[in-house]
Amino acid sequence: MADTLHWNNTALLREVEHSSGTPVSACLQCHKCSTGCPIGPETDYLSSQVMRLIHLGAEDELLRSRAIWLCASCEACTTRCPMGIDIAAVMDTLRMMAVERKAALPDSRGEKFNRSFLDSVRRHGRVFELGMLTAYKLRSGDLLADVDKVPQMLAKGRISLLPNRSGSAKQVRQVFRRATEEDEKQ
Ligand code: SF4
Ligand code: SF4
Repeated sequence: MADTLHWNNTALLREVEHSSGTPVSACLQCHKCSTGCPIGPETDYLSSQVMRLIHLGAEDELLRSRAIWLCASCEACTTRCPMGIDIAAVMDTLRMMAVERKAALPDSRGEKFNRSFLDSVRRHGRVFELGMLTAYKLRSGDLLADVDKVPQMLAKGRISLLPNRSGSAKQVRQVFRRATEEDEKQ
């Protein structure tokens, strides 16, 4: 990892602390946050490692990591931290930095999932899970993964067969339009 580190120590730390509003420099590497993280078995960097990489200024590794996109924002880490660091907010900040800097995604499924999710929100004003999953599967070609869970999710009311349109759909579309206009100016 050392070969590719983008050494820019304090600049990255200062930027993340400023944007997230939380004292990343106070991390004492106790690893309590990592032990409660549900994505621990799947991730490339545990939350305590993310904190350390920020200290080291390893911007490239962090912005291209799977960890920032797998993070479920559950805040289990934040509630465990003895130093009061809002780790979930740090993950949010790193995701925003990755988007702003157009960092390469760790694998193309993330981009396909994000596109399917945003298309669904743009269309319905909120996510329509079944439609979003269908769009994602068509884009990724990953047609059969997890289909066995669909009947159970339908039975438990976790997903519905038809979209439930948001009353704010018009405002949501305006937000997307403004975002597109801002993007085009850059
Ligand atoms: S907020 Fe993210 S990093 Fe923290 S415990 Fe949840 S999934 Fe893990
Ligand atoms: S729980 Fe807090 S202090 Fe401990 S490793 Fe995680 S971020 Fe650092």
